[in-house]
Parts: sequence; C-alpha cells; structure tokens
Amino acid sequence: MRIKLHGTRGAYPTSSKETQKLGGNTSCIEIIDANERLILDAGTGILEIDFDSYSSADRIDILLTHLHMDHIQGLGFFKPIFDPNKEIHIWGPGGSSYPLKDRLKRFLSPPLFPVMLRDIPSKLVIHELPNEPFKLGKFLITAKFVCHPGPTVGYRIQMGSRSVAYIPDHEPVLNKPHLFKEDKWISGFDLCNKTDLLIHDSQFGCEEYKKKVGWGHCTLEIAAELAKRAKAKRLVMFHHDPAHTDKYRSDIFTSFMNSHTNDFPIELAVQGHEIEI
Ligand SMILES: [Zn+2]
Ligand SMILES: [Zn+2]
Repeated sequence: MRIKLHGTRGAYPTSSKETQKLGGNTSCIEIIDANERLILDAGTGILEIDFDSYSSADRIDILLTHLHMDHIQGLGFFKPIFDPNKEIHIWGPGGSSYPLKDRLKRFLSPPLFPVMLRDIPSKLVIHELPNEPFKLGKFLITAKFVCHPGPTVGYRIQMGSRSVAYIPDHEPVLNKPHLFKEDKWISGFDLCNKTDLLIHDSQFGCEEYKKKVGWGHCTLEIAAELAKRAKAKRLVMFHHDPAHTDKYRSDIFTSFMNSHTNDFPIELAVQGHEIEI
C-alpha cells in the first residue's frame, strides 16, 4: 500500500514561505494499492492529486472524517466532479440531526459555492458511514467516532495484513497529561491497534495546548502516547497548525524527540511525501 500525503495542514491553507517545507495544503491523503485508490478528506490537498490518474476510473471514493472546512474546501474544485462520466462516492459521518447530504449542501451551494450540489455534472452518491466495517474494492474500511467537535470519525484501512489508521483531528483526553489507564476508554484506540502506520493529529505544543483545551486537537506527546499504547509501528504527526512555521514545528518536534524514548519511528507529515507499508 502506498500513502500519499497531499495536504498536511489543519484549519486553513497557508502560502507563507515559512510553511512550505511541511506544506500549506489542508488535509487530504490518498491510499493506493495497484489500481485501487481511496481519497481521505478533501482539503485543498485534494487539488495536488494527479487528475489524469483517475481518467480511466468510472468510480472515485472520497472518505471524509468530518465537515470542518479544512477537510472539504477542495471538494468543489476537484476536477472529476465535473465529469458526467464519473460516479463520485462521498462517505462521511452521520450522527447529526441533519443528513450528511444536507450538511454538505450547505457548503456546495450559493453563496459559499457558485454551483448547487444537484447541478454538479458527475453522479454524486453520498453515503453515511455504516457502523460496521465495509469493503471498497479490496480495502476493508473501519470508521469510528472519535473525540472532536461535531460528528467526526477516524479511519482504519486494511488491505490483507497491512493497515493504516488516519485520525487527523482528535483530542483523546481533555486537559490531561496522559491517556486513560484502560485501553477500552481511549478514543480511537481500536483504529490504531497494532497498525502499520498511524497518521494522527499533533497540532499543538504542550504550552499552547493549555490555552486551547477543547478545540479538538492534541499535542505531540499525546499522539505519541496513543501510538505507543496501541503498538502502532510508525507514527506520522499530522494536521500542522497553519500559524506554525516549519522552524517552530521542527523545534517542538526535536525537543519532544529529545525528551522521550520511543521504540518506533516518528516523523512530521510532509506534503508531497509518499509512504509505503
Ligand atoms: Zn482539521
Ligand atoms: Zn476538525
């Protein structure tokens, strides 16, 4: 399985020169295995996808973690949605008093977007995620609600014996220095359990988090503790704060790495990087 990181930033895109190393696009990754592909989230990173690679695909599946703008703002500009020969399947969380389609329509309609959802030329099929694991091609998908404001899921994507867990927006504990003692009470634990690769929120440094409790994001320390507890084999720290320069992000990462011992690789997510598992 290959995982392409097309957008690694949280909140809003940034074009500042000082953020270009880690990347300025908001959340989007692509998972590829032979000729099967999935897109996770539709932040501005979705616009980095090689559209030609989808030219022969009749069907495209986009899995959304939630509907915060940084995870959907590229959707209306994703070229294949204007191709009448394409079927675009969008998956996202239910769990709200409004159906997913109505919630998406609020964004994909005037005045926020010039085209109405119903006038989009491709065949759009919108699915609320099932509670049980389900298959898309050879991928086995598990989606579970995680702690973040509004209905939000994390994903585990399995292909044969390999798996990747993607939880870009997550605050597994509220204003506590450590996770709960019992694994079963930890938000997202099952998704990460012994995964080959965990791509996880790590937006804040410890001092900064104290002022942003309840915003739905976590520290590098908590992301690493979750990976360790769940015996994940590799951790990619994702959802960089757009106000953090590459230097600041790299400094807090180095300081974290120098003060913690971890027996698995940890790295900062870099837009454009491809990871093979
Ligand atoms: Zn986000
Ligand atoms: Zn969010």
